[in-house]
Amino acid sequence: MKFRFLGTGAGNPHPSRMTSSTLIEGSNGSLLLDAGEGCSQRLVEPDRWSQEVRSIVITHRHVDHHSGLPMLLSGYKGAQRRTPLEIHVHPDLMEPLRTWIDTLKQGDQHQPFELSWVPLQEGTFRPASGHDGFIWKNDHLAPDDLGGCHSLALNVAGDRWVFSGDIGSFASIEPYLDDTKGLIVESRHADPEESVTRAHKRGVKHIILTHVARDLTPFPIEGARWAEDNLVVDTNEFA
Ligand SMILES: [Zn+2]
Ligand SMILES: [Zn+2]
Repeated sequence: MKFRFLGTGAGNPHPSRMTSSTLIEGSNGSLLLDAGEGCSQRLVEPDRWSQEVRSIVITHRHVDHHSGLPMLLSGYKGAQRRTPLEIHVHPDLMEPLRTWIDTLKQGDQHQPFELSWVPLQEGTFRPASGHDGFIWKNDHLAPDDLGGCHSLALNVAGDRWVFSGDIGSFASIEPYLDDTKGLIVESRHADPEESVTRAHKRGVKHIILTHVARDLTPFPIEGARWAEDNLVVDTNEFA
């Protein structure tokens, strides 16, 4: 299984880094974890295997995690996409987001393919992309702030990988790191060095940092690697 980082920026406009979006290959197409600005641009370059997105998860309401959605849907419409697509989003955020998309005429009424909106819930997660996962709320937002913010764990060929999404602090993913082989951690708000140190203590072998204000952060950080836009990670490389 492969991950591809489409946007690794810290949330502000940047000449070479888009905002949060990660593509995760599955057994039935791919899962797009967040759809930050520029995700459609990254998806069409350079190899197109990523055109098979079947499921999108929007982790929370912040604009750097979903502002690429209308452009992506517009691109699919232009390309006469036929493959069904589902968007998983918390019910509290679904209505405003859906209204926005519909107003832009990019919603399910305007697409040549079946577009479905699925309420994002905590617990077992089985998207159409064929992943076997688990979702929980983290501490980046209050739960009543348009549904809060979510983290995700996926079974990858028998190994557990955790995708933190935006987190307020490492503490909100720490209880979910049992038997975790790999961690993709968004460190805009949580100290990246602390995350790496504590994840290693929990036995996590492979740590990739993304969504980091690198101008504020000294690097390299020992024991972790940085994600760049278009970095493809093949989990088979990790013994
Ligand atoms: Zn963010
Ligand atoms: Zn955020």
